[in-house]
Amino acid sequence: MIKKIDHIGIAVKSLEQALPFYTDVLGLPLLGIEEVESEKLRVAFLKISESKIELLEPTSPESTVAKYIEKRGEGIHHVALGVDSIQDRINEMKEKGIQMIQDEPKTGAGNALVAFMHPKSAGGVLVELCEKKGLNQ
Ligand code: ZN
Repeated sequence: MIKKIDHIGIAVKSLEQALPFYTDVLGLPLLGIEEVESEKLRVAFLKISESKIELLEPTSPESTVAKYIEKRGEGIHHVALGVDSIQDRINEMKEKGIQMIQDEPKTGAGNALVAFMHPKSAGGVLVELCEKKGLNQ
């Protein structure tokens, strides 16, 4: 049911400050930067073969990522697993006793459908289920 690691989400204070490490030092192609207003984030995607790194910059102190950085500093925020039929996967996880933060998928960055598992249910890791729609994903 899990197809691949779709991306690793990394919380950063500033995309401008964080990006040169990924683009210049590591030489990863920048796929694009977009604003996700619902999450109060600016997000940059960098490509690594079939997977991506997602840099998350809060645009408001109200953003959950801003609160995360305040508490734990910059660094790895979540792991996103690529799935098909995300609603079925959510239902399956709930049947297996996993506490989901979202019972229904919401639209996230890259126009993907996403839902998060509670870290309490996933060994302390914030795990995102992620289903890509359309082309160029
Ligand atoms: Zn993500």
